Amino acid sequence: MAYGIDVELRNLTKRYGSFAAIDDISLRVPSGSFATLLGPSGSGKTTTLNAIAGFVTPDEGEIRFNDQAVSQIPTYKRNIGMVFQSYALFPHLTVGDNVAYPLKMRDRMSRAAVAERVRECLAMVRLEGYETRLPKQLSGGQQQRVAMARALASRPRLLLMDEPLGALDRRLRDQVQIEIKEIQRQTGATFIYVTHDQTEAFVMSDLVVVMNDSRISQVGTPTQIYDEPDNVFVANFLGGSNLIPATVEGVDASDYLVALGDGTRLAVPRRGQSMNVGEAAYIFIRPEDITVGAPTGAQERTVDVAATVETVDFHGDSLRITARIKNTSDVISIRTGRHQPVGGGADIGVSWKVDVSRLLKR
Ligand code: ATP
Repeated sequence: MAYGIDVELRNLTKRYGSFAAIDDISLRVPSGSFATLLGPSGSGKTTTLNAIAGFVTPDEGEIRFNDQAVSQIPTYKRNIGMVFQSYALFPHLTVGDNVAYPLKMRDRMSRAAVAERVRECLAMVRLEGYETRLPKQLSGGQQQRVAMARALASRPRLLLMDEPLGALDRRLRDQVQIEIKEIQRQTGATFIYVTHDQTEAFVMSDLVVVMNDSRISQVGTPTQIYDEPDNVFVANFLGGSNLIPATVEGVDASDYLVALGDGTRLAVPRRGQSMNVGEAAYIFIRPEDITVGAPTGAQERTVDVAATVETVDFHGDSLRITARIKNTSDVISIRTGRHQPVGGGADIGVSWKVDVSRLLKR
């Protein structure tokens, strides 16, 4: 299979009237990597993908494949495969003919070579032996796999996928996600994938590009995005995290010194942010990084806060506790082992290691 290409967007803007659907977007997706555009509805994901494909002409900026500007290259010459949420298979053609279609149209291959390529692509999506079926004789998941095989048939160096699993149920999605990732590894092609589902983005991607309001909010590996959100939008979009209001009171070489609403003073590591003394901030911390119990006071670089339990919910493998920090209205959400013996109204100590927290601008 062909190798991937390096895709670069430089200051890309696309306007519809006075509204910018994408606004000054810059991004580099290295050859052979799996990048996912993740963001809420209307944030500009599809417009970005369409610009890369050549369906949308940017008003400003440039798209480069392997360091060559592609603005003059029409879609059909960009060597791109595409898969959309709607499978868009030809209903009257068999599975084999659907997959062979782009080869016959474009590539003028011999019959034997086409048959061989169809077999290879159907094997890749685990549909060997389905050549003679019609699309209506397949499940939704199988139809989407045929669409993927068709997109792979001309050995694209770049595969663009726009919510391809949107129509499938959760279980099937989980399964096909892993298969798509595997296909990407096998082919070595660059994949750019659009979704609004964070788990999907995390499972498959080397690079997650979080979009908000026509701009890129953060780019990083799944763990960077999850553990080190750059801003409140990313922290909130990923859901389930704590954003505890705090005020910056000081700064030293490694930490910001902040005060919570109850007056508790604590340290939060500096990680390249520039916050001013007196500035309103949030402490970001994951529910699973907080422990409940007696104060651990003596331990170095650990924070202890007194709180009152408000709710305890059983989630099968864990408990979700919400607790209010004493003398404030700030609520902390905690995920603990399922055997944590606490009930509503209990006074607890809540603690976390300083190094798992982050400070974000409020
Ligand atoms: P979704 O997840 O709902 O598909 P998205 O993140 O892919 O959303 P886009 O489809 O890129 O978002 O749209 C971004 C914004 O640009 C939206 O507000 C949309 O209404 C607007 N937009 C997109 N295409 C056009 C168009 N052809 N004419 C006018 N506005 C457009």
